[in-house]
Amino acid sequence: MSHQNILEQIKERVENKTDILHEANNEHSRYEVNAKNYRQILIKNIPFIFTCDADDHLICLKNYSIAIKNDLITELEPLEKIKEKKFDIIYDAGKRGGIVVTPGLINGHAHIHMYLLRSALVLDEEKSVDDTIANMAKWQRFEDEEALFYAAIGDLTEQQKNGITTTLTHGPSFNAGEIAAKITQHNLINAVSAVSNSRPTNSPEMVEELLAQKKKFYSTPAISLHYLYKTPPTTLDKVKKIIEKYQTLLTVHMAESQNVAAITVKEQGMSEVALLKKFDLLNNRTIVSHSIYVSPEEIVEMSKNQIGIVHLPTSNAIHKSGIFPFWQFNDANGYKNICLGTDSVVSKSKLDLLTEAYQARITHLYSRTIKYGTLFKMMTMNGARVLNLHDRGKILPGMKADLVFWKLRDRGFIPYDEENPMTLIGNLITHGGRSVRDLMINGKFIIKGRRHQFVDETQLLNTLQKKHMAMRQRKK
Ligand SMILES: [Zn+2]
Repeated sequence: MSHQNILEQIKERVENKTDILHEANNEHSRYEVNAKNYRQILIKNIPFIFTCDADDHLICLKNYSIAIKNDLITELEPLEKIKEKKFDIIYDAGKRGGIVVTPGLINGHAHIHMYLLRSALVLDEEKSVDDTIANMAKWQRFEDEEALFYAAIGDLTEQQKNGITTTLTHGPSFNAGEIAAKITQHNLINAVSAVSNSRPTNSPEMVEELLAQKKKFYSTPAISLHYLYKTPPTTLDKVKKIIEKYQTLLTVHMAESQNVAAITVKEQGMSEVALLKKFDLLNNRTIVSHSIYVSPEEIVEMSKNQIGIVHLPTSNAIHKSGIFPFWQFNDANGYKNICLGTDSVVSKSKLDLLTEAYQARITHLYSRTIKYGTLFKMMTMNGARVLNLHDRGKILPGMKADLVFWKLRDRGFIPYDEENPMTLIGNLITHGGRSVRDLMINGKFIIKGRRHQFVDETQLLNTLQKKHMAMRQRKK
């Protein structure tokens, strides 16, 4: 089936939200539906909402309700104080054991086009991250544009089932990410490589063309440079100018292995941090992942300049890359700009942030323990700050309505201390096996009753399996 056919097929469902109407006013349903094409939503009687407040403190609101108009949260109050009275959908979160609501989780680093490589590489049997990268390139030669498109849908829908509503991805194809974002209705920062091994036609000029037309797209274009040692200074200079002109984001892998750090010094005559600084790219529009082999002075400088950092502890452990100096960044006041990421299925099989948060906790506990509340902030508020998305990451009036609905009567929450509901956050992070009951992005239900509203999962899994085997066949 072509991209166009699939787009046509989902178009009606996306625009008319027909699926939600099927469940209208069913007595077992949590939803009461009063109008087609819903715009005003009330989520009422929520036993527990967890969010950071305007002062960045983690709070727990008991028995609050949320009013939503279009894509925005308009009110956050106990039910009797909600002023708006007219709603197209009323969701009763107090029914049948209740629901815990959190902000949509924010994934700072992914490669969504690589989803078909699950099982292709036996991660922990590789010698190092450098071997994995070399092997990965061999596999990727056998993927065509259509394979990348299906991979991207597979990857994003898996993230959504695990509570992720916003993702920064980087890869060679803008188009695959754009179509997948439209179909899954995901918030996607779609960073395209300005230099690419697999796509020699990629260039800063090509990315600039996308940025010039950014209003046309569903996803948000951005620039990526996979490795700085492979980027000629002339390209860095062009990238710098494009970023200034379009106020866009840049994402790069940084100091992921000792080898990469050493090659950069050999090829460019300086470290990756020094190189970014030289081209005026050491600022909060730049997002670097890993950042393991950086000096104490560089840690202070990166923190001072509020560069965004994505910590990927599972990827670092599996590839034997080393340990991210979390506490050194923390002590340099850089903690506020650290978020978490999934990376691709080549670096972490389950694409979620809850297990990534737990991995962060157990990776760094030999020195001190990262508190559950801190990990929660890294998955929500810090992620939004790193990606320069100032209207996401918190549940507050004026923020975008990106919400995750977790079932309370679930082994991932129970038992907890009713006198200290913050124990629910610890349970949420340590349990690991959670998938969401419902998921809302920009005021629209994307997953409802654990079912994706815009992608038929059975059909998708069948297609992914076929594409994966076709890739293996071509590699032979
Ligand atoms: Zn990566």
